Amino acid sequence: MTFEWNAHRFSGGVLALDLANTVVFRETPERSLDRFSDPAEVSRFSAAAADYRQGEWGNVEFRPPRSPREVAGLIDVREAINRLFRTAVQGGGGLSPVPLSEFLHLGAKLVGDEPDEQPLALPRPLKDGRQISLAAASFLSGVRLFDPLRLERIKICPNCHWLYFDESRNRSRRWCDMNVCGNRAKARRYYDRNTKQAGSSHG
Ligand SMILES: [Zn+2]
Repeated sequence: MTFEWNAHRFSGGVLALDLANTVVFRETPERSLDRFSDPAEVSRFSAAAADYRQGEWGNVEFRPPRSPREVAGLIDVREAINRLFRTAVQGGGGLSPVPLSEFLHLGAKLVGDEPDEQPLALPRPLKDGRQISLAAASFLSGVRLFDPLRLERIKICPNCHWLYFDESRNRSRRWCDMNVCGNRAKARRYYDRNTKQAGSSHG
């Protein structure tokens, strides 16, 4: 079966959250699924992210990890992004010291490993045709979310537990993707209502 990195997989809205969302159902460990458990998916994700994140990064190539050490670095920063922003949403109090420190520590190493001439300036996207490591770009994407006005737009999808950036005017988006998770929830409510009406004790 071929797995497709389609628009739905990039519901996070920014690269940092898309990377965190390569794990599904994070809050129910028995259902949790890591798309990067197949190493081939890391490169496929990098290529698709360059297409879906042109608005954030311009015309850029995200360089996937080239060694086991770099793969480990990417996974570490992915997990740090997840902890940092998930605890921020759940705690309601913004960024917490321990996950923030861990995130910055990993990121300091990642940006330090980029070539000297690499433009990392934010928020301006990279010049056309440039390459940056996927891990460093994901870190920088996360840094851009520190602004309190951006931080308060990060949400957790109640269906799949993805993190997503809600750009709607009233911050009223309830799902990572209405067409997928919203519809699944609607179908479940319909099912529950009908089984109850039928006298079922289904809880
Ligand atoms: Zn969802």
